[in-house]
Amino acid sequence: MTPVRATFQTQFFLAALTATILALGVAGILFATTMRRQVDDQIESTLVAETRLAAELVGRSAALSTIPELQDEAIRIGDLLRARVTFIAEDGRVVGDSFEKLADLSSMENHAQRPEVIAARTDGVGRARRSSASVKMDMLYAAVPVKHPAIAFVRVAVPLTDVGHQVQTVLTATGTALGLALVGAASIAWLFSIRISQRVRIIAQVARRYESGDLTPPHLGFGDDELGTVARALDQSVQEVGRRLGEQARDRARMEAILAGMVEGVIVVDARGRLQLVNDAARLMLKLTDVAIGRQYAETIRIPAIAELVAEVLLGHRPEALQLSPPRDPSRAIMARAAPAAGSAEHGVILVLHDITDLRRADQIRRDFVANVSHELRTPLTAIRGYVEALSEDDTNAEDRKRFLEIIGRQTQRMERLVKDLLRLARLDAGQETLDLVACDTRLLVEAVVDDLGSAAEERRQRVEVQIAPDSRIVRADPAKLHDALRNLVVNAITYSPEESTILVEAAPVDGRMTMSVSDEGPGIPEEQLSRVFERFYRVDKSRARDPGGTGLGLAIVKHLIELHGGTVRVENRPGGGAKFTIALMAIACLIAGCSTPKAPLASATVPLGVKEDASPAGPSSAEPQLTASGAGVILSWLENVNGDTTLRFSERTASGWSAPRAVVSKRSLLTNWADVPSVMRMSTGTLVAHWLQETDPAAEAYDLQMATSRDGGQTWSPPFSPHHDGTKSEHGFASLFEAPGAELGILWLDGRSAKETSLRAASFDREWTQLFEDAVDTRVCECCPTAAAVTSAGPIVAFRNRSDDETRDIYVSRFVDQTWTEPVAVHNDGWHLNGCPINGPALRANRRDVAVAWFTAPNDEGHAFVAFSQNAGETFNPPIRVDEIGSLGRVDVALLSDGSAMVSWIEFADKHAALMVRQIERSGRRSAATTVSALGANRNSSYPRMARFGNDLLFAWTESDEGTRVQTAIVRLP
Ligand code: ADP
Repeated sequence: MTPVRATFQTQFFLAALTATILALGVAGILFATTMRRQVDDQIESTLVAETRLAAELVGRSAALSTIPELQDEAIRIGDLLRARVTFIAEDGRVVGDSFEKLADLSSMENHAQRPEVIAARTDGVGRARRSSASVKMDMLYAAVPVKHPAIAFVRVAVPLTDVGHQVQTVLTATGTALGLALVGAASIAWLFSIRISQRVRIIAQVARRYESGDLTPPHLGFGDDELGTVARALDQSVQEVGRRLGEQARDRARMEAILAGMVEGVIVVDARGRLQLVNDAARLMLKLTDVAIGRQYAETIRIPAIAELVAEVLLGHRPEALQLSPPRDPSRAIMARAAPAAGSAEHGVILVLHDITDLRRADQIRRDFVANVSHELRTPLTAIRGYVEALSEDDTNAEDRKRFLEIIGRQTQRMERLVKDLLRLARLDAGQETLDLVACDTRLLVEAVVDDLGSAAEERRQRVEVQIAPDSRIVRADPAKLHDALRNLVVNAITYSPEESTILVEAAPVDGRMTMSVSDEGPGIPEEQLSRVFERFYRVDKSRARDPGGTGLGLAIVKHLIELHGGTVRVENRPGGGAKFTIALMAIACLIAGCSTPKAPLASATVPLGVKEDASPAGPSSAEPQLTASGAGVILSWLENVNGDTTLRFSERTASGWSAPRAVVSKRSLLTNWADVPSVMRMSTGTLVAHWLQETDPAAEAYDLQMATSRDGGQTWSPPFSPHHDGTKSEHGFASLFEAPGAELGILWLDGRSAKETSLRAASFDREWTQLFEDAVDTRVCECCPTAAAVTSAGPIVAFRNRSDDETRDIYVSRFVDQTWTEPVAVHNDGWHLNGCPINGPALRANRRDVAVAWFTAPNDEGHAFVAFSQNAGETFNPPIRVDEIGSLGRVDVALLSDGSAMVSWIEFADKHAALMVRQIERSGRRSAATTVSALGANRNSSYPRMARFGNDLLFAWTESDEGTRVQTAIVRLP
């Protein structure tokens, strides 16, 4: 039988009840005893008083002398007092008794020896309790002497049953009161025990949740009493332990990630020779298939040289690094170094393995290259020296002299070509030749090369035929470099094909790529050497190749140039003889501009984009627009002020236009601030999230961030919640929402909880809207510039205006890497010093690893807008590119296009006129013509325009404030 375990509640209740019963019992007994005595004393003193009264009455009727008269008097007084009244003569005879008949008086016992009579005689008053012999019942007697001729004592008696009855009444009342008190106390104890046990149960639930590994802090408080204090203290220690465990886990994960990501192999062995760690690189390098951590290393690593190395370190020696080849792979070379862990072999040995195969290969290539270069230079140099020597001989005739000089000239040119090609390859290898990409028309490009080489072909009586497919496309390329590559192929064709042959240059789109090929009728290239002709100094027929004067570097340069464009170049032999070299590049669909000559790169689009008017879904008195883009469309949110109530509304633009506006929240206390605006965003799960600002102390300009979610497209909203829990009445605003990987919601905001500085904080929520963390990204930032956030394929990134100790307010970014915010870094050191906030935040967009940041700055009191690109998820940014035409008020926004370029919007301000403008800016710095989206009226200072991309459309929203405010929208179709 399982023993019944009393619950905490029952135990608590029983304890409280027992204590109450004991307390009430003792109190009851004490009360009853005291009451009984008091009632007794009361009755007795009342009896004595009544007896004295009776004596007084009798004393006044001295005329009564006969027994019958006295008996009547006794009965009269007895009736008055409702007691037995007895008159006793001096000798003890009873001369009147209200309980006796007159006839029986004479037969009554003499009362002289009654204790109350004896006491009355001696003390003036006598009391007694006993059974009455005359009336046969227990009585309480009181007797006093009286001045009367016939009566010496008056005695009054009441039956003790009456006394008992009175006492009983008192006791019953007491008992009832105690009973009621007990019931009340039991109920209170029961209710209290329920409450306490509920709290204990909640604490136990939290403890069980912690036990299961979920350390999310409970939303409920624990209360302020001792139980709450204990629970809170335990909770804090659990949180602290959890935090430390989390830190440890993060450190471990970081270390494992570092080790896993290392190209070097790492093996750790403890002091007793047991394997502690083997990273992936080490497994691969040493081809270890079965790694048994904790077992002797020699059982896993069966390479004698490594075993020896580790043993040496364990013996306290410092062995040299050694080179070895992994088992069954002599082509690879590994350098192994072993050192004691933490400086002493007592802590084990760390073995680091470097795969130096590529280094060795590179070294070999370098040596071959130097040998090749020396060889290539020696040939012309030897020739030059020989002919110079011959020239210096006196007997050379004028004709020979001319011939020798010609040969010297040719050899010098050949050396010059070689040095030029070598230098170009060196520049390409060092990445010094960057691409200046523009849209190029292949036809024009091919024709330019053929024109260039027309005379060379003519010299050899060769015909160059050009065939351009009618649907040939525009390629995005660096025209000068593409020209060089194609020219090289045509020069080779002219050089290696016989005189009077035909060279065919073709251009045609193939599988979405644009190809350009050069075919000749020469000897072609032996099949087994096809793959090698692009190698440096590789020549098919060394003896034959020397004649044409080639350097052997031409095709290597072509390959480099084409690969720089992301294209390919290949060679094949034509079925009828001759070689065919083909270049393939990505084509772009739309014709922007052609390139007439390679020397003059062309600008991209110079035509402003068209602006379509759009009927804004926002009503009158609307302001503070915000746009957020999702896979479903773009959401425009705004505030509407009607009769003092402020309403946050939104409308979503999808393929079918704007949806009917819906309200999120409507209150008198919503904060309105033209630059600090609410937002509504659609998550990839379809859930809508909104944020707004709730005033908490208008006098102190204090407000909180509030958020709510809706699963039904905005018909109903969850109760509001807040991402910050500091509880201070301070500013919390300028928020940016973003969807982090895993459908988590991130929010970034400026926080004034520390009275001294404004900090930038971020929080995140999981899919169930449980808050995951709240953290400071930076503890001192500009006080009222909107923030920006985006998500790259490497994680979230945020941009904000920083505030240095010397009041420099430049734009910084921080990335969320390994669960922490990286130390913020400047996008560019503008060096804008300003003693105040310019209310001009950055804009930020990301697409995979491409990031664009746009911002406003005015270091020399001249306001300009800039954009900077990053292609490594925001780790570093290219130099900024100016966005505005003449001057700007900033308030920028940015959208990324799929080709990596950005559309940037800004407020242009020149000649006292302001306009919302947009233009495309490419990574290369090329800017399209600026398009004016809208002129901004006189009250331009209260408009913070927004831009978002939806498919091929750019949506704009801004506040127009000529007669009251109203949010306007416009659409610009992308090129
Ligand atoms: P070179 O400066 O010697 O022409 P390249 O790198 O341009 O160097 O070419 C490498 C080698 O490939 C040439 O030496 C030649 O043997 C071979 N080759 C290049 N183009 C052709 C061609 N059209 N027909 C036959 N062989 C060619």
